[in-house]
Amino acid sequence: MTTPTAFRLFKQVPRILFGRGALDRLGELLPAQGWTACVVDAVHRAGPIPARLAARNVEIFWFDAAHEPSTDQVDATAALVRATRPEAPSAILGLGGGSTMDVAKGVSVMLTNPGSARDYQGWDLVPHPAVFKLGVPSLAGSGAEASRTAVFFSGDRKFGINSDHSMFDAILLDPELLAGVPADQRFHSGMDCFIHCVEAVTGTMASPLAHAHAGKALELCEAVFLGEGSDDDLMVASYMGGCSIVNSEVGVAHALSYGLSLELGLRHGLANCIAFDVLDEFYGAHVETFRRMMARHAITLPRGVTRGLDQPAIARMVAMALRMERPLVNALGENWREVLTPERIEALYARM
Ligand code: NAD
Ligand code: ZN
Repeated sequence: MTTPTAFRLFKQVPRILFGRGALDRLGELLPAQGWTACVVDAVHRAGPIPARLAARNVEIFWFDAAHEPSTDQVDATAALVRATRPEAPSAILGLGGGSTMDVAKGVSVMLTNPGSARDYQGWDLVPHPAVFKLGVPSLAGSGAEASRTAVFFSGDRKFGINSDHSMFDAILLDPELLAGVPADQRFHSGMDCFIHCVEAVTGTMASPLAHAHAGKALELCEAVFLGEGSDDDLMVASYMGGCSIVNSEVGVAHALSYGLSLELGLRHGLANCIAFDVLDEFYGAHVETFRRMMARHAITLPRGVTRGLDQPAIARMVAMALRMERPLVNALGENWREVLTPERIEALYARM
């Protein structure tokens, strides 16, 4: 494989603890001094997790992941953390799916940077290093544990804070935490990983590192969703899928899925599945594999999701997709605007 000429310099998560039951070894990753603000998916309120965290010097901030997060929620959570104890926390822990982990990333940034989280949506806009943060996924696929992105709604857009300071300092990957995930959510989030990898390897920005990570993660996704792969495999796939986008970019499915989430409130994993299912012309055989996985897991996608939308709503979705410049350069090259015209985007939305 030849190497693209313009390599970017990438940070990766420096410390990783993997293993069943690893949640009980949190102390090995957290700073020895100070307290930890834990942003935890509210789905865990009733289970054993609060007690397992309480063995340490922590405060829990529940995040209701019924909807994907906004910059306002990040600002409000950061304010709550500041108000809870006189001294700042020495660590932020994010435990949950991609939504909760992203909020934890955003909070860690906002504790050391002025203004609102929306000021930092974009590339490398965060001036000051963030508070130490530890990511603990309880849902696999988003790759938020590995990526430098923290994605939030703000006003009329869904956009990431993309900075070295929004990347976790450590992650704890405990496959036992995936045990209670409902089957359809497991599939949708797992497909987020599959789609990240397809978009990473087929893109113009893919480096050999992206190919290596995504290639292995695709193999694991196929083992999990077409073979006998385990939750351990899924957790590793999610992490490697995240690494693959750090070294490449997402593509057409993500560009279109952001519009679906923005306008219809569809969750990221599901929105990706709906978008990917109409992208044969871009992702060919990978879409066929995706359909085999759906059939194997008896997953059906909602049809006609854009049917009831009026023209202004469609126009907002098209505008959102067209803002996804980097993913579209990755997918289609510098002349992507000639390939993916507003009319073509609208026609793709009409088929979803
Ligand atoms: P999610 O975090 O939005 O959670 C989906 C649902 O699963 C929620 O209802 C949540 O409460 C539930 N859930 C989580 N863990 C569970 C468990 N152990 N048992 C039962 N239910 C559980 O879903 P996701 O697919 O992990 O993440 C999607 C989000 O991540 C979106 O907001 C998306 O924008 C973002 N994202 C971020 C990145 C990144 O690199 N930062 C990448 C992809 C997606
Ligand atoms: Zn994604």
